[in-house]
Amino acid sequence: MKAAKKTKGKVSALQSVKGMRDLIGDQVFVFQGFCEKAAEIALYYGFKPIETPILEKEDLFARGVGQDTDIVSKEMFTLKTKGGDRLVMRPEGTASVMRAYAENGMHSWPQPVMFYYSGPFFRHENPQRGRYRQFYQFGLEILGSPKSILDATIIKLTTTILEESGFNNYTLKINSIGDAECRGAYRRDLVNYYKKNLKGVCADCRERIKTNPLRLLDCKNPMCQEIKKDAPESIASLCGPCKAHFKEVLEYLDAMNIPYEIDSTVVRGLDYYNLSVFEWVADGLTLCGGGRYDPLIEMLGGRPAPACGFGIGVERVLELMRAQAVDLDTGGCDVYIVHQGEGVLEAAFQAAERLRDAGLDVILHGGGGGFKAQFKRADASGAFAAVVLGE
Ligand code: ATP
Ligand code: MG
Repeated sequence: MKAAKKTKGKVSALQSVKGMRDLIGDQVFVFQGFCEKAAEIALYYGFKPIETPILEKEDLFARGVGQDTDIVSKEMFTLKTKGGDRLVMRPEGTASVMRAYAENGMHSWPQPVMFYYSGPFFRHENPQRGRYRQFYQFGLEILGSPKSILDATIIKLTTTILEESGFNNYTLKINSIGDAECRGAYRRDLVNYYKKNLKGVCADCRERIKTNPLRLLDCKNPMCQEIKKDAPESIASLCGPCKAHFKEVLEYLDAMNIPYEIDSTVVRGLDYYNLSVFEWVADGLTLCGGGRYDPLIEMLGGRPAPACGFGIGVERVLELMRAQAVDLDTGGCDVYIVHQGEGVLEAAFQAAERLRDAGLDVILHGGGGGFKAQFKRADASGAFAAVVLGE
């Protein structure tokens, strides 16, 4: 009674949580198909799978992703255990993989250590096109090496995943935000520029000038886009070694004929990045984001281990593929068994089992209806053959 009053009749027990959806039938096939293809490609490159828990300690993301990021300041699903621990439904994958690396002594494994993962992630965002509260990511991590060829490998692999999935209508944007030192000088330039343009930016951005100036470039508010255009560029402030790293990454991309755009507004929304940062965008949406995050493991209290990686938003990629009429593999069955009359039911049942034993996917018609209706169902199932039994 109390609970019913509280919800004022607006929320029904038969409604899923806002921003969270069911995936049904073919939708699951399409999701799994994409992640399986991505995993298969990652295996070709020597990556191994990793599965980390959905729940992690709040501190992992507060320290790793950063207190002033959107994710930590407003988007985390946090819960308190009976013992008083504060846990979080993971909003992203990298910090967890870093934790696993440190916790499982992977520092002493042959480096680099390379992982792929996929699964659900949770962010308390405003649901809209390509933005949900539970969404899926496929991600890659390379830990234990600072080499620029690994940044390029991540980019090449992501490009291959998108292309092998039948999707090639996107732009790869790349930038370098340097290391802690050159970023200091850049941050000062950026703050000075934005202080001069305070009137042209949103309230969030006025706050970001104080808390996290780089994030100014990541703002999605339409009113801030004009000012963003003329903001100083991080690559202009890079020190010698950072410049060299960026040049090497670009040279590898050129050597592999991977088209890219250098975009100084790409900074990524998380605190842990340094050097290369990249995003694949299409139709106004960021499909995947990644880069290098050498300082992350130390931010978490671990021994140093340079790393890079990326995450693809599976919903966004699939939605755009659908919009661009890319053929999505939805599985289907091989044989549909049509039958009529009580007398043939057992024979139909046995025929289905024999065909399944022979390795075929078989649907035995389970509803009512005459032959005509059943043939319609057989057609819709996508089966290449129908077996027909009648009295
Ligand atoms: P955006 O700038 O669009 O908010 P992000 O920078 O927060 O993206 P990342 O943290 O880099 O995104 O996550 C990698 C990918 O995961 C994104 O490029 C996107 O495809 C997907 N993604 C992120 N948040 C969501 C969400 N709420 N719903 C669906 N997909 C998401
Ligand atoms: Mg976001």
